[in-house]
Amino acid sequence: MSRRPLMAGNWKMHKTIEEAVQLANALKEALAKLNDRDALVCPPFTSLSSVSEILKGSSVFLGAQNMNDNVQGAFTGEVSPVMLKDAGCSFVILGHSERRQYYSETSALVNQKCRLALAQGLTPIVCVGEKLDERESGKTFDVIKTQTKESLNNLSSEQLKSTVIAYEPVWAIGTGKTATPAQAQEVHSFVRQLINETYGESVAASVRILYGGSVKPDNIDSLMAQPDIDGGLVGGASLKAGDFVRLVNFQVPCNC
Ligand code: PEP
Repeated sequence: MSRRPLMAGNWKMHKTIEEAVQLANALKEALAKLNDRDALVCPPFTSLSSVSEILKGSSVFLGAQNMNDNVQGAFTGEVSPVMLKDAGCSFVILGHSERRQYYSETSALVNQKCRLALAQGLTPIVCVGEKLDERESGKTFDVIKTQTKESLNNLSSEQLKSTVIAYEPVWAIGTGKTATPAQAQEVHSFVRQLINETYGESVAASVRILYGGSVKPDNIDSLMAQPDIDGGLVGGASLKAGDFVRLVNFQVPCNC
């Protein structure tokens, strides 16, 4: 089964509203027509509405970088999935390693958020990834298995098909160190196999698994040439229009 590639830009805590609008305008123009791939930008909460206005009618989707695990209530400083939909989002990043590391988010919480996002009609992008010491001590597959199973716990087949997974080795995020295409492929294939064991081949074949960790214009083509890499979750290189457009326009060598 062929999966539609997805290039997702995570703008993290960058860009004022004016800067976000400028970048969104540039992307809208450069990515006017996308026939065989999806592009997504995830600005900070403060810019969502303004960027949404710009992207209306364009090929570029809008997402958020996090959400609360409640629909509404007394949760000072938090943003609910209903508010994200209201602001024009169709995607939400969940369990990014920065949230796991700095805000103590557990896979159990990510799972709660994931199920709520799906119930509210948002497509979750669920992040998993091992730290450097875990890789170096041979624990990569154990960590990925635990995070994946716990974060996606109790999803139905239909829900899983509407979920995107992002494999982001923590040691590669914002460090300039990218996993080699072979290292990334090995983990992507492992995650797909995990899905296969629980949900069967057709669900496993349809779930998009993105790679994240210092994705750049000069490594995107070789990453996308891997059979189980279906796109990228991109931080730094999504902040410049030219770089992100190049990532969206990745080319894989034809085997024909
Ligand atoms: C990310 O934000 O998820 C990420 C992978 O960042 P970078 O591309 O800068 O490594």
